[in-house]
Amino acid sequence: KRRIAMMTSGGDSPGMNGAIRAVVRMAIEKGCEAYCVYEGYEGLVQGQNFIRKFEWSDVRGWLSEGGTLIGTARCMAFYERPGRLKAAKNMVLNGIDALIICGGDGSLTGADKFRAEWPGLIDELVEKKELTAEQVEPFKHLNIVGLVGSIDNDMSGTDATIGCYSALSRICEMVDYIEATASSHSRAFVIEVMGRHCGWLALMAGVATGADFVFIPEKPRAGNWREEMCKIVARHRQIGKRKTIVIVAEGAHDQDGNKISPDMIKDLLADKSGLALDTRITTLGHVQRGGVACAYDRYLATLQGVEAVKAVLEATPETPTPFIAITENKICRKPLVQAVLDTKEVAKAIEAHEFDRAMSLRDTEFSD
Ligand code: ATP
Repeated sequence: KRRIAMMTSGGDSPGMNGAIRAVVRMAIEKGCEAYCVYEGYEGLVQGQNFIRKFEWSDVRGWLSEGGTLIGTARCMAFYERPGRLKAAKNMVLNGIDALIICGGDGSLTGADKFRAEWPGLIDELVEKKELTAEQVEPFKHLNIVGLVGSIDNDMSGTDATIGCYSALSRICEMVDYIEATASSHSRAFVIEVMGRHCGWLALMAGVATGADFVFIPEKPRAGNWREEMCKIVARHRQIGKRKTIVIVAEGAHDQDGNKISPDMIKDLLADKSGLALDTRITTLGHVQRGGVACAYDRYLATLQGVEAVKAVLEATPETPTPFIAITENKICRKPLVQAVLDTKEVAKAIEAHEFDRAMSLRDTEFSD
C-alpha cells in the first residue's frame, strides 16, 4: 500500500483544512494509506509523533474549520541540507514516498529542492549507516505535489489560491461594518489590508466595496497622488457621499519607491486647510487570515486536494514536480518550478521599482 503524506507550511490560510480532508479521503479511496505531518517542515525534521496516520473519520467536520488543524510553522532547519537529511530519514522510516504540501511559494520551493536532492540524501543516509540499502530500496524517488495556500493570491500560474476569497470576503465584511459608522459620523477611514508584493486583496476589496481610492504595490501612484486622491474624495463628498474609504495594501508605495503609509493618507484627508475630514485608520491584520473558509475556498481546496492525489498516483520519475492550479475555472496541473520563478520575479521587480515589468508579469489586468 502506498503511503501519502499531507502537510501545511508557511502562513496559514482558510481552506487548508479542506485540502487536508480531501487528500486524506482521496488517498484512502484510492487504496493508499494517508499520513499527516504536523507543524510543517519542522514535523518532517523532528519525525516521531509529528507524523501520524489518518483515517477517514479523522478529518470529519474539517471543511468548515478555519486555519490548519495539523499546524504550520517556519522551519530554519529545512533550509539546510542536514535538516533535509533528517526529513528524508523520517520519511523512509515511516514508509512515505509521496508528499502533498499546501503552502506559499517558499514552502513549494523547499519541496522541489527536497525532491531534486532526494536520491543524494538517500545515498548519504546509507553511507552514514543511518539506514540500510534494503530499507531505502523502495524509496528511490520522491513524489511531491504542491497546493497553493495563501490569502494574498500571489502565485503566478493560477487564478486563485486556497484562502484568497475567504480573506477577500472578510475584508468586505469588515469594510461594511466600518462604512456604517463612517456614514453616521461622516468620517473617512483608511483601511490597511495585507499584501506586501501583491495588491489583489486591496484591489478586489476596493471594487467590491466601492472604495474611494486604492493603493497597491504593482501600480504605484505618480508623484501627484496626493492631489489626485484629494480631488476624487472631494468630488465624492460634493455629490453627497457621507463616508470616505481608502484601501491601502501593506506594500503600497509611490513611483520612487517611497512607502505610502496609512498615516500619510490620514494626514492628507484630515488636513485642516484641505478636506478637513475626521479620519481614522483601521489595520485589519489577522482577521483577514482567520475564521472559516468561504464556500469557494472549500470547493477549491476539495477539488485541488483530489487532483493532488491523482497527480501523485500518475507521476513518473520524469514528471516535473507539479502544483495544482485553477485556470479559467478548470483544475489543472502545472510545473511548479516555473510558477515559483515567475512569482519570485514579480516580487523582485517590485522591490527593484521596476513596476511596468511587475505589471506585465501579473496575470490580472489592471487599468486606471
Ligand atoms: P507565505 O506565503 O505565507 O510566506 P511560504 O510558504 O512562502 O508562505 P516561507 O516562510 O517562505 O513561507 O516558507 C515556509 C517554510 O518552507 C520555511 O520555513 C522553510 O522551512 C521552507 N522553505 C522555504 N524556502 C525554502 C528553500 N528555498 N529551501 C528549503 N526550504 C525552504
